[in-house]
Amino acid sequence: MITFEKAYEIVMNSAFSTGSEKVSFMNSLGRVLAGSVVSDIDMPPFNKASVDGFACRKSEQEFELEIIETISAGRTPEKSLGLLQCSRIMTGAAVPSGAECVIMVENSELLPNGKVRFRGPFTKENIAFKGEDIKRGAEVLNTSRLIRPQDIAVMASTGSVTVEVSRRPKLAVISSGDELVEPHEYPVGSRIRNSNAGQILAQTERAGASGTYYGIAGDDEDLTFGIVAKAISENDIVVITGGVSMGDFDFVPSVLERAGVKILFSRVAVQPGKPTTFGVHPDTLVFGLPGNPVSSFTKFELLVRPLIYKMMGFNWEPLNIRLPMKESFMRRFAERMAWIPVRITGDGFVEPVEYHGSAHISALPDADGIVAMPAGLKILEKGELVSVRQI
Ligand code: AMP
Ligand code: MG
Repeated sequence: MITFEKAYEIVMNSAFSTGSEKVSFMNSLGRVLAGSVVSDIDMPPFNKASVDGFACRKSEQEFELEIIETISAGRTPEKSLGLLQCSRIMTGAAVPSGAECVIMVENSELLPNGKVRFRGPFTKENIAFKGEDIKRGAEVLNTSRLIRPQDIAVMASTGSVTVEVSRRPKLAVISSGDELVEPHEYPVGSRIRNSNAGQILAQTERAGASGTYYGIAGDDEDLTFGIVAKAISENDIVVITGGVSMGDFDFVPSVLERAGVKILFSRVAVQPGKPTTFGVHPDTLVFGLPGNPVSSFTKFELLVRPLIYKMMGFNWEPLNIRLPMKESFMRRFAERMAWIPVRITGDGFVEPVEYHGSAHISALPDADGIVAMPAGLKILEKGELVSVRQI
């Protein structure tokens, strides 16, 4: 049995790069940028009014000014300002030559003689100057970042309509266990619905990989072997849940070996999820996760998700929030490290969710995160600061 930290290190050291491909920027959300994005233009491309108002000279603010034209956004100014002149201008429009500032319309007064007067003076220019946000040729998005909606806006405004992104790892999901039926079926007798496959496909999607479901393998060794071998040949990562414990039908590790997988660990000193198995095949990384839904969920978050990001070149750090415990929390056995599902209360405290063990599937929807308790530690004291890792 190895420590969780060691297991994490082994998994991360097994990562290989999935390479890259070009996609439309509109399809790049959630992907990892595999090259930098460079601007083909200054932003803003011209001196731009940042308010609705009047463009004028700073030194003439206190005089009555003649209005020589109205400049709307998208239209090029036709006139430059002469002495004691201003132009009416809209937000986003190009500032005419001769103007040094824009006085907000709220601070202006139109006079019966058709001129305008300002309440002022004002020092604020209200102009976004050409190139002040982005210079043409500048790198606007660096490589290895996870692309978010705000990045898409930067790509759009800099003309980066095709971007290089890492290929999404292909991940196969296999469920094992004769007791399983698919979610649309009603389980009779001693059967239960397969909740792991949907959950892991969703976790795969959230981590930016592309998941394929290979079905329920049952507890049949040859059938499982056939599905596993096919999944290995078609994917970068294979996740099989169930069948990794010590039961009579827990033959997943031996099936993996038969399929040519070199097992690197099969027991991790962590709770939940002790019987987590991991192995490598020449082009595929294989996980055997415990069947219990809380275990498979947690192990995916802790081991598979960081691996997916690393394979895409994204140096992911989970968001950890440090908050105090609302009440003390005790555990009876402390020989293994534990991850405790917790809730963040409205008043900013941490409290463990009701949790009856790793089969307690309704514990996780109430949890905002998980808190690590190192081996040997039995109690988290009331008021003690703990790091909540978001799930
Ligand atoms: P195993 O890892 O096969 O010993 O399974 C441990 C527990 O998890 C058993 O109670 C199984 O019925 C349950 N289990 C296994 N696979 C799944 C699954 N895909 N969905 C929900 N529960 C499962
Ligand atoms: Mg089983």
